[in-house]
Amino acid sequence: MAKQTPMMQQYLKIKSQYKDAFLFFRLGDFYEMFHEDATKAAQELEITLTSRDGGENGRIPMCGVPFHSSKNYIKTLVERGYKVAICEQVEDPRVAKGVVKREVVQLITPGTVMEGTMLDEGENNFLAAITPLDEQQFIIAYNDLTTGESSVAHIRDGFDSVVSELFNRPVKEIVIPSSLGEEKETQLTDRLSVTLSYEDQEELLEGYAHLTEGLKQDGLKRGFFRLFHYLQRTQKRSMDHLKPVQYIELMNYMKLDLYSKRNLELMETFRKGGKKGSLLWVLDHTVTAMGARHLKKWLERPLLNPDDIQSRYNQVEGFLNQFFEREMIREALKSVYDLERLAGRVAYGNVNARDLIQLKQSLAKVPEIKQILSTFHSEELKGLGSHIEPLQEVYEMLDESIKDEPPISVKEGDLIKDGFHPQLDEYRDAARNGKQWIAELEQRERAETGIKSLKIGYNRVFGYYIEVTKANLHLLPEGRYERKQTLTNAERYITPELKEKETLILEAQEKSVDLEYDLFIGVRDKVKEYIRPLQQLAEQMSTLDVLQGFATVSEENQYTRPSITPDRSINVIGGRHPVVEKVMKDDHFVPNDIKMQEGTDVFLITGPNMSGKSTYMRQVALTAIMAQIGCFVPAESAELPIFDQVFTRIGAADDLVSGQSTFMVEMLEANHALTKATERSLILLDEIGRGTSTYDGMALAQSIVEYIHEHIHAKTLFSTHYHELTALEQSLQQLRNVHVRAEEYEGKVVFLHQIKDGAADESYGIHVAKLAQLPDSLLARAEELLQQFEQGKDAPTLQREAMSPSVPEKDDAQLSFFLAKDQENEQKLEAGQPAQNQEEHGVLSE
Ligand code: ADP
Repeated sequence: MAKQTPMMQQYLKIKSQYKDAFLFFRLGDFYEMFHEDATKAAQELEITLTSRDGGENGRIPMCGVPFHSSKNYIKTLVERGYKVAICEQVEDPRVAKGVVKREVVQLITPGTVMEGTMLDEGENNFLAAITPLDEQQFIIAYNDLTTGESSVAHIRDGFDSVVSELFNRPVKEIVIPSSLGEEKETQLTDRLSVTLSYEDQEELLEGYAHLTEGLKQDGLKRGFFRLFHYLQRTQKRSMDHLKPVQYIELMNYMKLDLYSKRNLELMETFRKGGKKGSLLWVLDHTVTAMGARHLKKWLERPLLNPDDIQSRYNQVEGFLNQFFEREMIREALKSVYDLERLAGRVAYGNVNARDLIQLKQSLAKVPEIKQILSTFHSEELKGLGSHIEPLQEVYEMLDESIKDEPPISVKEGDLIKDGFHPQLDEYRDAARNGKQWIAELEQRERAETGIKSLKIGYNRVFGYYIEVTKANLHLLPEGRYERKQTLTNAERYITPELKEKETLILEAQEKSVDLEYDLFIGVRDKVKEYIRPLQQLAEQMSTLDVLQGFATVSEENQYTRPSITPDRSINVIGGRHPVVEKVMKDDHFVPNDIKMQEGTDVFLITGPNMSGKSTYMRQVALTAIMAQIGCFVPAESAELPIFDQVFTRIGAADDLVSGQSTFMVEMLEANHALTKATERSLILLDEIGRGTSTYDGMALAQSIVEYIHEHIHAKTLFSTHYHELTALEQSLQQLRNVHVRAEEYEGKVVFLHQIKDGAADESYGIHVAKLAQLPDSLLARAEELLQQFEQGKDAPTLQREAMSPSVPEKDDAQLSFFLAKDQENEQKLEAGQPAQNQEEHGVLSE
């Protein structure tokens, strides 16, 4: 290092402490990067890579971004999961001896972004920390720096549940101890798109102990403090806006494992990603960013307590009953800005006057909202309103102090209203009077010299000057004017009198700008004293927004208020799939009942492909989830129990991410259900066993059904293409067969999407084959084989393997083949062509 220039030595020293970040090293108006940082940044940011003299090392790579446009570059890097260490000059270069002192003032990481432009409005930006207590138990701590909220949860059943908990949450970065282990780290990075960071400190910090006062166990506190140490290390400032840490009692919420969250497409769709097509997409009728974030929190954690659920229903119903008032609330909420993040920025010291105006405008709406709430008949809504504290003193203070259309900068004046502060008014008067005096001087000079074009101007370098065109110079009296600047066709002069006034004006202006800044900081600090009540107000506004949104969506889509059954029976009449019915547009979604009384635990669902089996199953789960977040549900009427957990194994959800085989994923997902479900759970298993050979798969499917039926007793929807399993109805008391039928109508196959009692017609495939006009001899042979198979029915399902080596599997390919042929033939017949050729038949009958 000795061979480096002093500045490079300083750089390398600082860089050695921030190895995992881009070090933005401030040099004048630029942030410069060197060595590997430079080559990598040049690529990521598409900026030019240059080089500089690196002493004995020869030339070293370098690149830089201008300070004034650095935000965009930082944003790009952070969005891609990188960290950026901002290293500033911390002393005035003019007084520095030797190299200017530099320090990292902030480490910007994906989970600690504060800058508005880098944030998604309707989404929290969580930093999470994992603290292992032992092999099975973990503490997860969350923090959103922008809103100041922190929470902790205790996971008791292994690391998989840690991953499930974190999955689908807007977590951008996870802080872990360096001893967590490679396998777990890989699991995190494979499953979640997050940045991992390390923090080994977890001891309690005295100054912040009050934040964790509500937490009972030491482990929870340690969990939070690991996260907090990391925040301190990266943010390097006080964090006054952090709210006390909330304990999330996971046992109070419906549990959804990773697979169910993904398969049910609660927040985003499985294949495309993105909100469109998800349950959230249908439900989100919030009008504020706070409300949108709040809704996601509710959707992440459906409730278990019937009273809490009923209370939400009551509020939604209250809103539904009074359309006009609800619309007024919606309108008023639209003018409420993001109070939560505004409060965060106030605390963080990075609000400007425009933010405070937004705060004022938001507060202006609160009394109105409170008033409208008092006109509702619903006691719950009235109650919500009566708890709102409108903070009018904050409104008034802002209204007296801050101008209505202030500039973005807080250092150039024009922020504070006249009349707010006597001294400021005086300075302003002085400046204004001075300018008035100068205007008068211009008139006087014109009159005295007789030069009509004489004018008084101002520029930053020379201050005020008198300008006379060259043609008029001869009219100027000698001696009174001092020449300052010569232009092509004019001269500029000053006079002592003018300079004297100028000093007064500039002094007054400078003083008033300084004073305005101080006054602004004063106002900001005053607002800061109201952070807690502001945060509370934000919470109330967002709750209100979610509830009015539930009412709006329920009305729009004709949802109904569910009743909660004390036993485990389900009785839904005319239920619909909330998302499919929305995307179907003109086609009418066919409603279906689901009636599972106490004596029925398992529905075995059969029916051809594409008939609507998995839609039906999903619809049951989504309805249950909607009910437990307090929303009304898509049905004519609905009686539902409270489910403690929902498990799903649906669709051919190839797990491309972790590189496991489809069948392995299927078994993993099934295992989740089998090991964790209780009799209060809902299990959806779609086509289990299709990922392996017929008999292997059928054997597994049957034993899984039996296992659930005997040992778990959870409400289970089990769809299968193994028709043989329908025989189980005879031996398993709590199992019912249902099916979705497709019918023949005018020679075409029509899917009615109707769920009916009993098993599907086993000869369905042959029926379709007839429609497709396969040769008569082939069809006769198929009937014969079917009869043979059916005669073996008394024998245990699996023993039929030997006698039916060529049992056709009713799989997707085959059924859709029949259908395609069916349509094709029709076209051919119309065109007078022979239906099908022998070769194709040959293939089919193989
Ligand atoms: P399966 O699981 O039986 O293969 P799906 O549940 O995937 O079938 O449904 C196939 C398609 O049928 C869906 O994409 C949807 O367009 C339509 N569908 C399913 N259920 C209904 C319904 N109840 N009403 C109208 N269309 C439906």
